Amino acid sequence: MAKLILDRVSKDFGTGRSAVDGLSLEVRDGGFLALLGPSGCGKTTVLRMIAGFEQPTGGSIRLGEKLLTNSESYLPPERRNMAMVFQSYALWPHMNVADNVGYPLKVRGISGERYREKVREALGTVRLGDFADRRPADLSGGQRQRVALARCLVTSPDVVLLDEPLANLDRHLKTEMEETFREFHQRSGATMVYVTHDQSEAMALATDVAVMSEGRLMQVAAPAEIYARPEGRLVGGLVGRGSILSVPISSDVGPRLLDWAALREVLKRPGDDRGRPGDDRDRPGNDGSPRADILVRPEDVIADAGGVSCVVESSLYEGERYAVRLRLPDGQSLRAYSRFAVVPGERLTVVIRSAWRL
Ligand code: ADP
Ligand code: MG
Repeated sequence: MAKLILDRVSKDFGTGRSAVDGLSLEVRDGGFLALLGPSGCGKTTVLRMIAGFEQPTGGSIRLGEKLLTNSESYLPPERRNMAMVFQSYALWPHMNVADNVGYPLKVRGISGERYREKVREALGTVRLGDFADRRPADLSGGQRQRVALARCLVTSPDVVLLDEPLANLDRHLKTEMEETFREFHQRSGATMVYVTHDQSEAMALATDVAVMSEGRLMQVAAPAEIYARPEGRLVGGLVGRGSILSVPISSDVGPRLLDWAALREVLKRPGDDRGRPGDDRDRPGNDGSPRADILVRPEDVIADAGGVSCVVESSLYEGERYAVRLRLPDGQSLRAYSRFAVVPGERLTVVIRSAWRL
């Protein structure tokens, strides 16, 4: 196996707007990359070009040294040793689980002990060894999806491509399947590219997350890195919860990770007299000083008597905590968590432990 390399890949369907625009990306051997972005940003098109169902109009895709495709040459899907799992995983209802899983081997003319061994191995990987004789109709939704995974694994593909495989499932089954996918990746050792528009799914599953917008790559990094250091407003707003505030800091100076000492200077304190009455009602930017966008995660907003006094705008009970929206003195909104019930109109004094300059 080898790493998958996309080099300045573009796809233009002739609509006047590129579906994929100069996308460069590497997925290391055995890596698990999530391709994350809103609907229509080009995720499926990228996957179809990797699989060979679509040819790029620019750039190239390689698997290690092997050129899979560029705008001139093209290796057909069946010669790429990849498997693609779609949202709807069709199993043959009249075949039992083992026959469903073994079907791709039959097509390739593999039979006998080698066939049985491979089917056994694939079923073991998805923990369905005891279900070989069952019919799909006798399985749960999650088990059926595991059969589909075993079927794509049975031919030992170099790369497994998954296009929003959990999009139609309810939250409970999704969580179960996320664990299955993680385990599937670990046990199979396959290189995986997983397309989703669900940021929590991408973060929970993948070793690397690539964020796409309008055909372009915005950032690629490990989930914790994307969460802590998002590049720009778009990624910051897409991944995780948080508030994006506009504050008077010049964007070309200072560290990007701001602590309370830096922030207290830029957030108006309660009772602060800025010299003119009515300042609190001024909108950001009115004073003409250079401003920057900062991202504040709700878990970094801490109740502290020495902080900024805010008004509670809304409070949503989430079981283990309340998700609260606060109004800062300058009118901007700030998300926070509270372990205790708070009501709209109430005042809370908070410190922002740290923030990330976008
Ligand atoms: P995603 O999977 O992120 O929702 P797609 O890759 O399906 O996005 O689509 C990206 C863009 O390319 C969309 O604007 C879509 O309408 C367009 N597109 C996709 N396939 C075709 C096609 N065969 N012909 C024309 N436009 C297409
Ligand atoms: Mg899609």
